[in-house]
Amino acid sequence: MTRPVRFEHYRWLGDKRGMTVHDLDATVDDCGIDELMQSEQFAAFGPDRLAEARNRGYHACRHCVRSEASD
Ligand SMILES: [Zn+2]
Repeated sequence: MTRPVRFEHYRWLGDKRGMTVHDLDATVDDCGIDELMQSEQFAAFGPDRLAEARNRGYHACRHCVRSEASD
């Protein structure tokens, strides 16, 4: 799966609809990234870290975020 062009410099991509965060280094079809980009209900994080996403209330996508993922 290709990385969304506008997120080529980011690793973590949030989905505001389900409050999930995806690891763009490991996304799979089940993540629905293409559909998420079309919906425009996505979010980037600053700093671009899993911990920052979690601080904002996002939970890790079970398809692409490894439980011990480092950020
Ligand atoms: Zn995912």
